[in-house]
Amino acid sequence: MRRIFIFMAIAVLMFSMSYAQEKKVTRLPVFDIHVHTMKVNPAWSSSMCPWFLTSMPGGDPNEAPDMFMNLGCVDPLQPAKSDEDMQNEVIRRIKDFNMTMVAFGDPGILHRWVAAAPPGRIIPGIGISNAAEMTVEAFRDSLSSGFYKVMAEVAPQYQGLSPSDPSLEPYFAVAEELNIPVGIHMGTGGNGMANLTQPKYRASLGDPFLLEDLLSRHPKMKVWVMHAGYPMLEHMIALMGAHAYVYVDISGMIWSYPLDDVHYYIKRMIQAGFGKRIMYGTDFMMWPRLFETSMGVIEHAQYLSDDQKRDILFNNAVRFLRLDKDHFEWPE
Ligand SMILES: [Zn+2]
Repeated sequence: MRRIFIFMAIAVLMFSMSYAQEKKVTRLPVFDIHVHTMKVNPAWSSSMCPWFLTSMPGGDPNEAPDMFMNLGCVDPLQPAKSDEDMQNEVIRRIKDFNMTMVAFGDPGILHRWVAAAPPGRIIPGIGISNAAEMTVEAFRDSLSSGFYKVMAEVAPQYQGLSPSDPSLEPYFAVAEELNIPVGIHMGTGGNGMANLTQPKYRASLGDPFLLEDLLSRHPKMKVWVMHAGYPMLEHMIALMGAHAYVYVDISGMIWSYPLDDVHYYIKRMIQAGFGKRIMYGTDFMMWPRLFETSMGVIEHAQYLSDDQKRDILFNNAVRFLRLDKDHFEWPE
């Protein structure tokens, strides 16, 4: 009998030791402020070569357009095969890379991810890009529910609208009143966005200067410019200079545009003095290995000090979202 007790005590001890080991993180926390929750759609999920916009050959309107994504790389990223596969791959990476993310998109997928992830690791967002999507009352109700902590992704550029368009005004007013940070898509679109895939898209509507009226109308609203307004570098820098609370994320552009230009763009913002306002993000859609690819861009950047890398990968987002560093998991 006594031997059984000893045996049980050892078993309990071993179990609690392995539990403690499992809980221990080995990597510094990373914050990804731009993740999409998308349903897997086999009709348009495809492999992807990072930095695929390196070649923009143009073409002729009377001929079939070039493929949007070139697949001529050694190791293209493969899309998730199903919603379940995608969820498993994302949650595994949240744990392995000690990652926290702001995620938005399909609400069903988002709720499932939040339920499956460790507590607090997925911060839900809700976006609106034109007034036809949702009434102001419904938007207010959604934010008041407490589930959503962020207004994103707001992408009026694809709708042919400026972010300062009066039709979006009441939605931003709600975000400002409820103290909800706002992420607005500015800039990036890729190859032939206006004439091949999104007829309402306008390059000119990605100009960061279009945010000025909006910012002056809502002085308490916290705004981050998604994709850092790429490639409108000078206007982005001027906007950050004039508006002291504007941050940027470098999602999307870091894995799609030519890598040299990506580094040039980030380096220029750093040189201009905005190293505390650049936030890491992926713009994750369907390729699980995109997380590793995107983190690698920052980790391998020769012009960034270790402190600057940590600011981009974590500190800046925590400060922007008014979170507490002590609420994250840290390696011992
Ligand atoms: Zn975007």
